[in-house]
Amino acid sequence: MLCGCYAQVASKELEKIEEIDVILGNEEKKDIVKFCDEILQNNENKKEKVEDIFEIKEFAELGEITYTEKTRAVIKVQDGCDRFCSYCIIPYARGRVRSRKPENIIAEIEKIAKNGIKEVVITGIHVASYGKDFKEKEYRLIDLLEDINKIEGIKRIRLGSIEPLLITKEFVQRLSKLEKICEHFHLSLQSGNDETLKRMNRRYTTSQFREIVEILRNTYPNVNLTTDIIVGFPGETEEEFNKTYKFLEEIKFYKMHIFQYSQRKGTKAADMPNQVQPNIKEKRSKMLLELSDENEAKYNSEYIGKQVEVLWEEEKQGVCKGHTSNYVLVEQKVDEKNSKENTMEIVKIKGANKNYIES
Ligand code: SF4
Repeated sequence: MLCGCYAQVASKELEKIEEIDVILGNEEKKDIVKFCDEILQNNENKKEKVEDIFEIKEFAELGEITYTEKTRAVIKVQDGCDRFCSYCIIPYARGRVRSRKPENIIAEIEKIAKNGIKEVVITGIHVASYGKDFKEKEYRLIDLLEDINKIEGIKRIRLGSIEPLLITKEFVQRLSKLEKICEHFHLSLQSGNDETLKRMNRRYTTSQFREIVEILRNTYPNVNLTTDIIVGFPGETEEEFNKTYKFLEEIKFYKMHIFQYSQRKGTKAADMPNQVQPNIKEKRSKMLLELSDENEAKYNSEYIGKQVEVLWEEEKQGVCKGHTSNYVLVEQKVDEKNSKENTMEIVKIKGANKNYIES
């Protein structure tokens, strides 16, 4: 059985494989149990349903969700993306932007808050586009965050990966009034070189990105910025990579997720000339990972002697782990008899290394 993004974009190739008996696209996966029942009851040996994803206009609610985490819940608020970055298959797999109705989001968060969850992570495929498809009223991501901020029991609202252009002075001015917003922003930069960004069809320049970082750092003194970077994008010369490296040295992200570019059939970049050799991608990736580790170790060492507020998430073998609002991992050796899970505490930091700080 295959369902989801790969089934959505490659159903024609997959249907030739005999061993696969069920192929369901992204929209159909919510009915997976129904399809399996039908197969069993009708004794069918093959079932395929993959709708044209670009025809789907409504966000698909998945029904009742069971949360296994005690402290944090990931809340999906939209699906789809209209951006078409040249390396990305997601718009073809997920379709156009569909935003979830605010009343459904609020009801879900109110329910989980009653069950004790304190932190929500707001995610989607392109969260910055939340609400752009609402016809009846103007209600965008910032309106949703303002409403979530009012929910009793929720202590922290964390934004998942966001498109840098979401960050404007106006947006941050309203955001800064919401006391539950975490001081951690994951801005997907992808490259620190304007020419590469242009080929990627990203819609910002490095100087715009610099301004965005400035707005956030001026508003949130303890802000931690993290990012995603692709190395070895088609045509990325040594000079282009060096510009990216310099830009990343300047911005000093707390942490960077480094991806080596890989071709996705059906995207523009897959057919671009000057694909980069694997050994070069490997070398560039290693350089950026080292830079990321250096930054993280340095930022973490600056916490020694300071006080931070931590939400304890899990306790195993006498060690309690949790995060600060700006997403620094905190560890503390504890007496197992007194579990601190799902409590918030202000602690003093005594030690630090590249991966976590210690109280
Ligand atoms: S990288 Fe992100 S913004 Fe670009 S097309 Fe993919 S999902 Fe959309």
